[in-house]
Amino acid sequence: MGKELYWAVDIGGTKILLLMVDISGRVMFRKKIKTPRPSEPEKVVEVIVQTITEYSKTVKAGATGGSPAVLGICTAGFVDSLSGLVYQSPNLEWHQPVHLGSMLKEKLDCPVLIENDTNAAVVGEVHYGAARGHANAVYVTLSTGIGGGLYLNGRLFRGTDGFAGEIGHTKAFGKGRPCKCGGTDCLETWASGSALAASAREIWDEKELNDGHISTAWVFEQADQGNTLAQKIVDHAAASIGLELSNLVTLLNPSCLVIGGGVAANREDFMNRVVENIREQAIKPAVETTALEIKAAALEPEAGIWGIYSLITGRAE
Ligand SMILES: [Zn+2]
Repeated sequence: MGKELYWAVDIGGTKILLLMVDISGRVMFRKKIKTPRPSEPEKVVEVIVQTITEYSKTVKAGATGGSPAVLGICTAGFVDSLSGLVYQSPNLEWHQPVHLGSMLKEKLDCPVLIENDTNAAVVGEVHYGAARGHANAVYVTLSTGIGGGLYLNGRLFRGTDGFAGEIGHTKAFGKGRPCKCGGTDCLETWASGSALAASAREIWDEKELNDGHISTAWVFEQADQGNTLAQKIVDHAAASIGLELSNLVTLLNPSCLVIGGGVAANREDFMNRVVENIREQAIKPAVETTALEIKAAALEPEAGIWGIYSLITGRAE
């Protein structure tokens, strides 16, 4: 029998990253492929199975030897990891439940674990990244969307059906802005990177601007240059995120809060304000007695894939 090899796969809206890793954490194979468009579940399964099958053949023929032991998948969306069911994945435009776990198991004949990407990311950050050694950690990503993962009492907290940690879809305000999840006024519709641009489009007509394009970066630039309307949009987002995260800290009393995502990585001032808001608004014992560490994510963009690797190898549960 060959050495056991683990496949960790991150299915994103634009690309799919596949890693084959041995039990010691050595990456034996790494490949990034484009997510098929349109991203029908059958097509996505097909490209993953093809890549894994092709490379597994090479490995078997080579000196290393080995066969896939377990396949772990992380992807954005509402995922029940126990049944391998993806209820909804707006990034992949899956609006109906997809039995991703059983589809892959059928083709590859190995155990398959499916996990939400930010749930996997908190595990990755705890085992290999910024939250190493913490038994109670929260991971939040501030990007085009807002996502979160909870690691409580030394293990991933999934909730009853796997939907815990969806901080981006907690409610923010009552103005009726629709969210990709089907709800309205979720935090990510008001405070994510794409929300900043959406708010700006309500004020400015893109066609009347010099470069004709409103982006998250454009809003930040305008705010930096003293545009008070843009500053209001940015202030509002920092206040909303700060408020939501302070509530989370009060509610869960974690010892580490890891913040990742493009918005966080590129905007130090913005993040300082978010952190200030958390420290001011959470109950004092949860930030002072606990000495809450608020840290930048360390593994991006591969926190999810290392989290799923930790889960399929039994390093984490
Ligand atoms: Zn939502």
